[in-house]
Amino acid sequence: MSKRLTLPGFVNAHSHAFQRALRGSAGSGDFWGWRESMLDLAGSQTPASVRESYEGVYREMLANGWTAVGEFHYLGLEEALAAAEAAEAAGIEVVLLYAAYGRGGLDRFRQSSPAAYLRRVEELAGKGLRVGLAPHSVRACPRDWLEEIGRYAAGSDFVLHVHADEQPREIEECVAEHGLRPIQLLGETGCLGPRTTVVHATHANDRELDLIADAGARVCLCPTTEANLADGFAPVERLVERGIGICVGSDSNVRIDPLEELREVDGIARRQMLRRDLFSAGDLLCFGSDEGAAALGLDEWPEVAVDLGHRSLSGIDESDVPCALVYGCAGDVFATD
Ligand SMILES: [Zn+2]
Repeated sequence: MSKRLTLPGFVNAHSHAFQRALRGSAGSGDFWGWRESMLDLAGSQTPASVRESYEGVYREMLANGWTAVGEFHYLGLEEALAAAEAAEAAGIEVVLLYAAYGRGGLDRFRQSSPAAYLRRVEELAGKGLRVGLAPHSVRACPRDWLEEIGRYAAGSDFVLHVHADEQPREIEECVAEHGLRPIQLLGETGCLGPRTTVVHATHANDRELDLIADAGARVCLCPTTEANLADGFAPVERLVERGIGICVGSDSNVRIDPLEELREVDGIARRQMLRRDLFSAGDLLCFGSDEGAAALGLDEWPEVAVDLGHRSLSGIDESDVPCALVYGCAGDVFATD
């Protein structure tokens, strides 16, 4: 057996495991066209299909260095339990980010009221599962839902994850309905706090990023998915200027490789700034592990072992391994035994 280097495991702060099945389909116009395919797929899921396919996706995550995952789940309660079983069978740490869905989407996504939603969250937590609050988005949650969930979050220890500003249309619709942009609405309804993770924030303006910074909230970037879905470029320079914590997720799971997510974050910075030093390799590795764990409320999670004999590290001094990982390796560099 070749030499190993142990590192903190990578923490996947945002996953929808069932969407992995869409990787074999090509483009569909824009994000909204893709969403139709995704909704068709979501509608066909059962507890049995979730139990089987999620285990496969989670095993793939583990094989590529993700040792914990936040599963942002909107397929219903029985399927949430099946997802937790799949994670246990695969051996990955999971936090079920159980989605509140008040309108739109499919029937199966929706609860009858915020109170009914919060009962579901408590039911899952009562079974000993790690759970987080996840008002899906300002599209799916009316203002009174956000207010009730925000109030509940403030009085609990749960983390709160929410999609925001992934696409310009979502912002236009939110401004038309509320006179506020999505992250402003999250701020006004009590959904922005130090345990909040805003997923994407791709089209957030400066005012919205200031609100995230002032709240001590984080942003989860999912750059391989954001590229695949034609979302846009993450505002990495403006996140760094404000000292906003960054974590990463594999989201649609079109790719399952933490090193590729981190390299994409760094690549956006380099292309946009014409500079190579916005992030150090250490910063990027921290986004992939510690920041993701903090976003999920995890104090402990398993480590990963780098296979120093792997061909992609040939000729690399041990002291240069962190850089070589993020700039020149894929997830197969991690030992799986
Ligand atoms: Zn998502």
